[in-house]
Amino acid sequence: MQERNSDRATAHRPKRSCVACRQRRDKGDLLRIARTGESGFVVDSSGKMPGRGSYVCLNEKCIRGSLGRNLIQRSLKVRLSAESCARLREECLRELGAVPRAR
Ligand SMILES: [Zn+2]
Repeated sequence: MQERNSDRATAHRPKRSCVACRQRRDKGDLLRIARTGESGFVVDSSGKMPGRGSYVCLNEKCIRGSLGRNLIQRSLKVRLSAESCARLREECLRELGAVPRAR
């Protein structure tokens, strides 16, 4: 509960809110989903891609929740097909290490 008080001290560390649970965290603790072009998106593991981005906690619950409830879609103002949605979820989970990488 010291987050509010420490705002000034940590001002140089960017904070972002998770689209699923709305918790504010250090940018490095979140996964960034960047919008590319009209309807594309990419898991931005570097966090440095230009353009609109959404953040979600690095945990399965928030990743699934953000996609399942269309929160990422709404935040990025992009319409995802069920297929794209599944692909994005898989990419996010792979980023998290929950899904083994294809060899
Ligand atoms: Zn979250």
